Amino acid sequence: MPGPGEYRPDPTEGTTRIDDLPKPKVVCQSRNYRRRPCPRCGHSSYRDRLARRTLHDLGDPLTGRPRDIVLIYSQHHCTGCRKYFNADMTDLADPGSHYTRRVIDAAVRLVIEDGLPYRPASWALWREHRVFVPFATIQNWVEAGGKKATRRIDPDSLDWALSDFSGYIAADELYDGPFCVLSIVDNRTLKRLIYQVLDHDPTRKDIEAFFGRFHAALKARGLTLKGITTDGSTLYPEPIATVFGEVPHQLCTFHILKEVTKAVLGAVAQLRKGLAATAPQLARGRPASKAARCAARRKKRIEQKVGDLFEHRSLFVRHHLTASERKTLMRITRGQPHLRVLRGLMEEVYRLFDRRCRTATALVRLAQLRARLRRFGQLRETLKKLFSPGLEKALVFLDEKLLGSTSNAVERGNRRYRKMQKTVYRVRTRRAIEARLALDLLRERQAQGRAETTNTLHKARAA
Ligand SMILES: [Zn+2]
Repeated sequence: MPGPGEYRPDPTEGTTRIDDLPKPKVVCQSRNYRRRPCPRCGHSSYRDRLARRTLHDLGDPLTGRPRDIVLIYSQHHCTGCRKYFNADMTDLADPGSHYTRRVIDAAVRLVIEDGLPYRPASWALWREHRVFVPFATIQNWVEAGGKKATRRIDPDSLDWALSDFSGYIAADELYDGPFCVLSIVDNRTLKRLIYQVLDHDPTRKDIEAFFGRFHAALKARGLTLKGITTDGSTLYPEPIATVFGEVPHQLCTFHILKEVTKAVLGAVAQLRKGLAATAPQLARGRPASKAARCAARRKKRIEQKVGDLFEHRSLFVRHHLTASERKTLMRITRGQPHLRVLRGLMEEVYRLFDRRCRTATALVRLAQLRARLRRFGQLRETLKKLFSPGLEKALVFLDEKLLGSTSNAVERGNRRYRKMQKTVYRVRTRRAIEARLALDLLRERQAQGRAETTNTLHKARAA
């Protein structure tokens, strides 16, 4: 029985004959005038003849039929300039376009706002609006929109972005082939503040110039920077000190934890391999002697153990364990003190980042952890990340309660970029990247308006 939420195909799906497609509803419109002022000299010019063009418009979702506009328009002749011109119809469609402005707007929104790749956007337009636009045409529109956005962005975007500047920023770089995108995002309001596209891997000089540009923008508005979060890259500390001076610099805790987690999982894998190697080699066939049967049992036991360690490997690095997970962990690490130590170390690492303690306490804990680690020969090598000098910098946020502990704010934008990068580029040029980023910035800027409208709609429905 059909009910809400059922997934049903579009009625036109599977059509193979052109004649079976829904027939467009043809609407006549007119831009026919006796005289019009010449766009060049303003001379009131007589109609010379009539012409017509067909425009594809958004269709009717109720009847499921496309809608074509047949537009009759007058062509005029200016006797002063001796030129012909058409009656103005740019409110409806751009010159030379086969589609109305409404269609172009809808298509560009599907790609920019909803993040649809071009081909799915082409289908969505047909499905929801019964207008077919080849995906390459949508691509042309979006790329043209990118150029317009780049021009629109620069002068006024910083004013908007810095209007409620929190003082805390996250900075990151993103690589795309030979290009690199540097961006700064407000770590509390999550607004992208500025970005720059480089055609080479960034050097400290590039970062310094980029930060310098941002610093100048802050100064011009009388704002100050209170804290900055970056990943563990060595590109940042020097330029930060040069440009911003003494400002709290936090390394993203996600990045640190990711490294430690990777190291712990690596160590578990190594121990697993070592364990698997201790399993006895068996002769082919059914074990005959008593010793062979014993060896077969032992091999099975070890394989079971290795399998368990693999299946439950995430328990070694998970932050919070439930009682039953803890029990599983104890079971699979029986007779393997190394593994239990590993889990203990991981817990201590998590405790370092506990928001309830101060930086000083965490630093003492870190020193204790390192001292403990020094006593374990092999583990020390695998967990050498814990000795890296950057780790102290990841604990700064404990004292600066407003400082973002992660650079997730900037990573979010980068993830969105990566997603669209997978589907959209015909040519990856610096200009194309800049255009896409400009569009993304506009999308972000309009997000508040979209949320407000959704809210209002909610209220209207409840009223
Ligand atoms: Zn004229």
